[in-house]
Amino acid sequence: MKKQIQSVRGMHDCLPHELIIWNYVETILKEILTSYCYLEIRLPLLEKTSIFKRAIGDVTDVIEKEMYSFDDRNGNSLTLRPEGTVSCVRSIIQNNLLQKKNNRFWYIGPMFRYERPQKGRYRQFHQLGAEVFGIDTADIDLEIIMLISRIWKRIGINSYMKLEINYIGSKTERFEYKKKLVIFLKKYEHLLDEDCKRRLYTNPLRILDSKNENIQKILADAPLLSEYININSKKYFNNLCKMISFYNIQYEYNSNLIRGLDYYNSTVFEWKSDALGSQNTICAGGRYDSLVEEMGGIQTPAIGFAIGIERLVLLMKLKNIFSETLEEINIYIIFIENHNKNLAVQLSEEIRNLYPTLKVFINFFQQNIKKKIKHAINSLAKMIIFIKDEEIKKNCFIVKDLEKNIEHCILKQDLMIKIQNIFR
Ligand code: ATP
Ligand code: MG
Repeated sequence: MKKQIQSVRGMHDCLPHELIIWNYVETILKEILTSYCYLEIRLPLLEKTSIFKRAIGDVTDVIEKEMYSFDDRNGNSLTLRPEGTVSCVRSIIQNNLLQKKNNRFWYIGPMFRYERPQKGRYRQFHQLGAEVFGIDTADIDLEIIMLISRIWKRIGINSYMKLEINYIGSKTERFEYKKKLVIFLKKYEHLLDEDCKRRLYTNPLRILDSKNENIQKILADAPLLSEYININSKKYFNNLCKMISFYNIQYEYNSNLIRGLDYYNSTVFEWKSDALGSQNTICAGGRYDSLVEEMGGIQTPAIGFAIGIERLVLLMKLKNIFSETLEEINIYIIFIENHNKNLAVQLSEEIRNLYPTLKVFINFFQQNIKKKIKHAINSLAKMIIFIKDEEIKKNCFIVKDLEKNIEHCILKQDLMIKIQNIFR
């Protein structure tokens, strides 16, 4: 038997019925980002492998095992972007965008990670990302949190979302803390799972993030990163938390929240939803104040976040936030006799000329009329126009108003007014 043709594992088609919800979400995201004066930026899907390696960190999951890298015909190593921040930083340095007054950017598109596919985790997935450059005060941390909170409210999922926030300090502070954490964890090395044992020597801070309950029990007595953070940073963070509360945004301080990418510092946050099981983080972000300089730009503070669109859509479906019963068709044209097909095409073009936003459908199939009418109703069309010899002779169309369930014979010259009345 012939093997059925299939997409690459973990990479999915986004089919038309899914796209109704995707487009709805994207419209809201774009509207809100624009209302905060973010500018859209479009970045290539491929970048030089070296820029990710340096920025994300050699011993992170993404670099160690998740990148899709390959050599091009010239032997240059390229990588399908696993995330957007690094490309965005590369772009703003390359295009000298840092001098501008407003350095708020957003992008949306596919990202690629070689992970074990499961619900909410794919090898090609989509992120809405946003990055802001040049502001070193907590004002921007707050603005970003308010912006994201507005997104959840607008979509109607605010009550299912939980904000966790932490302050991970500077590289030097984390370095000092790391030493103490390793000394502590070594006492329990025999109790650590394989992943944590490995991380003890590669990336010990990620152990704090472990989902293993036994590890979390051990960590209950571990030294705290907050004890290694200087007093000014503590003030910064306390002030941010106060402001978040002032704007009535619920949050939880999670001292074990460590982001998986090395470039983060200071404020980090994640928005999670219990409804999603183990792939529960929908949005994640934080400050990355050294990355621009590390990548060759002038020293520029920065902060960003990314929303996983697949997980967001999953949550909306679970909570029935969006019914997929959006009308596929507005006006349904049925020609009864085959020789009236051209009239149907002409009429549909005239309607589109006058009302460019209406969805006009001609059924070209050889089906009986009952089936066509059923299709019109299921597509949530509001009207059917029948083109039939008998009426054409009288210069008329039969128009069925599917909302009121009534049929009229309408003069050709009155049809456009009728359409306007139904769809205004
Ligand atoms: P996780 O811990 O779930 O692997 P992460 O820390 O690797 O997430 P980030 O790099 O912070 O994720 O990406 C931001 C968001 O992008 C995540 O919160 C999630 O919503 C989404 N995301 C990340 N990886 C995937 C994936 N493989 N499939 C679907 N969505 C993803
Ligand atoms: Mg990951």
